[in-house]
Amino acid sequence: MPSSVAVRLVARAVGTRKFGVPQGPFCSRSLLQSPFRLSSSAPIPAPTPAPAHSDITTTPIPEITDIYPHLNTHESIYQFSLEQPEEFWGRLGRARLEWQREFQTVTDHDYHNSIFRWFPDGQLNVSVNCVDRHARLHPNRVALLWEKDEPGQQERVTYRQLQEDVCRMANVLRASGVGRGDRVAIYLPVSPLAVAAMLACARIGAVHSVVFAGFSADALASRIQDAGAETVITADQAVRGGKVIQLKQVVDAAVAKCPSVRQVFVGQRTGAQINMGNRDIPLDKVLSTASTECEPAVQGAEDLLFLLYTSGSTGSPKGVAHTSAGYLLYAATTHKHVFDYRDGDVFGCVADIGWITGHSYVVYGPLANGATTVLFESTPTYPDPGRYWETVSRLGITHFYCAPTALRLLLRYEDSWVLRHDRSSLRILGSVGEPLNHEAWHWFNDLVGEKRCDLVDTWWQTETGGIMLSPRPSAPGAPILPGMPMRAMFGVRPVLRGVDGSEMKGRSVDGALCVGSVWPGIARTVFGDHKRYVDTYFAPFPGHYFSGDGAHRDADGHYQITGRMDDVINVTGHRLGTAEVEDAMTEHEDVAEVAVVGFPHEVKGEGVYAFMVLKNGVDASTEQITDQLRKLVRSKIAGYAVPEVFLVCPGLPKTRSGKIMRRILRNIAAGKHEELGDTSTLADPSVVQAIVNAHAAHSAK
Ligand code: AMP
Repeated sequence: MPSSVAVRLVARAVGTRKFGVPQGPFCSRSLLQSPFRLSSSAPIPAPTPAPAHSDITTTPIPEITDIYPHLNTHESIYQFSLEQPEEFWGRLGRARLEWQREFQTVTDHDYHNSIFRWFPDGQLNVSVNCVDRHARLHPNRVALLWEKDEPGQQERVTYRQLQEDVCRMANVLRASGVGRGDRVAIYLPVSPLAVAAMLACARIGAVHSVVFAGFSADALASRIQDAGAETVITADQAVRGGKVIQLKQVVDAAVAKCPSVRQVFVGQRTGAQINMGNRDIPLDKVLSTASTECEPAVQGAEDLLFLLYTSGSTGSPKGVAHTSAGYLLYAATTHKHVFDYRDGDVFGCVADIGWITGHSYVVYGPLANGATTVLFESTPTYPDPGRYWETVSRLGITHFYCAPTALRLLLRYEDSWVLRHDRSSLRILGSVGEPLNHEAWHWFNDLVGEKRCDLVDTWWQTETGGIMLSPRPSAPGAPILPGMPMRAMFGVRPVLRGVDGSEMKGRSVDGALCVGSVWPGIARTVFGDHKRYVDTYFAPFPGHYFSGDGAHRDADGHYQITGRMDDVINVTGHRLGTAEVEDAMTEHEDVAEVAVVGFPHEVKGEGVYAFMVLKNGVDASTEQITDQLRKLVRSKIAGYAVPEVFLVCPGLPKTRSGKIMRRILRNIAAGKHEELGDTSTLADPSVVQAIVNAHAAHSAK
């Protein structure tokens, strides 16, 4: 270890001890709690004046317009990005990323086999792009602004500190045998430790698989097993909304089912007493002696960066696999152009790092652009419904990106919860995850944003890596309409395909939302199952990527999402396969059959509705069984997957070939009894009336 680094380490350790940082919630000596920076007073740089606003497109793109001056409208740049993707992305790739070996080839696809490669002969390290190059130029710029669960407990991590933290963690992983291509499961709350863990994997060429820290032990175990992870990184506990979550206990239960796991690194979030077993390694201890310098691995542009498990319409969740350079470039470019990000902004995306939004717009996109990014550990209503706006005011947040479900929850409270907090720092508002209904749009735009901020309703998916449809970028001043993501991102050609597979051209049409171009952020495969990738995304509409969503192109050519077309529902912005819930419920010994559908829910967007048939001769009460089922679903998947309604039915509506007619169940759940359609083809049409009656009795309760 170079002596200067050793001296700094000792100085920090001594400093921490000297000032007697008390143990206990929010102030133990862990990286998770960033003890080395409790006293950090690194300033957030004052916003630089807005660059002279280009009159071409909302955020200047000089890499293109300087070379091609004839591209003097947004529309012409967009067309260029579709017609010359190699030139467009090649120029951005060279200018906006730092390469270990520059690429010669921009794209190299085998569409027939659904193999996509970007910058395939280039080499770069993602952690260098997200940290080192900014630490070199702006070491004291704040990289992470950690808004802890308890208001007023924020901590700041500068780029130089983040670089040291990433290096420490990378050294620890390397020293414990984690190598290139190895999968590392991360089960942590939103925290600097989680970011350091992700970037440390990237630094040594390991592949992270972050699992949302609200998933159950079973859900975590299945993700660890599918990825074949040998290493898990977690913490003692998490705190969220004032409640303590026993992270380590969940990991213990999960790891007991995963013989592949040989080590579990345990950080401290609260400093609680926890059981440490043979495989467990106290993270703080090993980090405190690790070097703050770590040679980054030389990585191929197409080396795996991470897996992120997401629900599909059938079977178990799939490990969506993203690679390095293309993903990073797409996350960074969309972050810059959708949100008009400028140096000095404070980017507040309140998503959990366990979802793709957290990956692309809390971590990779903002850090690749050298931004100050907020890590929000709490909930929208803790300690009160003004939490978001109090945080905006205290941290000077310029961009606020959240989920519609949170907005629908908050708009039920009095306006004063918003108005009492100064929101003048806000410049851009954004939403993602589900349709942003008109009421929520207006509340966000008119009340929160005082009608002076651009509001971007962004449509994208885990598989797309970054935002695909959004009102911005656009021609400067182009209107933003409520309730739709409207416009395509550079390089993205949305295509609508009809039931017969033909392309729905023109305006005022509906269809399956596909993408007819290739873009660098697309997931490359489903981990360990390329066939599933092909079958899910490319087989339904040959020649195009199929999103699973339906969309409407209106009379002005703007896009509106009409909802999922498969058996996936969207609960509080989280994707959930109905089959997953059904599988969990049918494990109950008294349950014969289950059909799960989504139904419109005022706050959650969609709620989960379970129709179930009990086995003959069951003598337990329905309440008892329902209670057990709630626990079962919670333990197999997560709390958000627990059905709102469990309806006992005499049978399910099936065709003569035994297929459940979910359309009928969806309409019953939505209360659309008049729209059940033709039921005469059912094996037993009388069952429908019985279900309608049961639903009516349940609703009347
Ligand atoms: P995920 O991959 O978990 O982020 O979920 C992606 C899904 O969320 C999409 O396929 C859509 O069904 C839904 N979604 C995401 N953003 C939007 C949006 N702006 N409007 C409507 N639905 C959205």
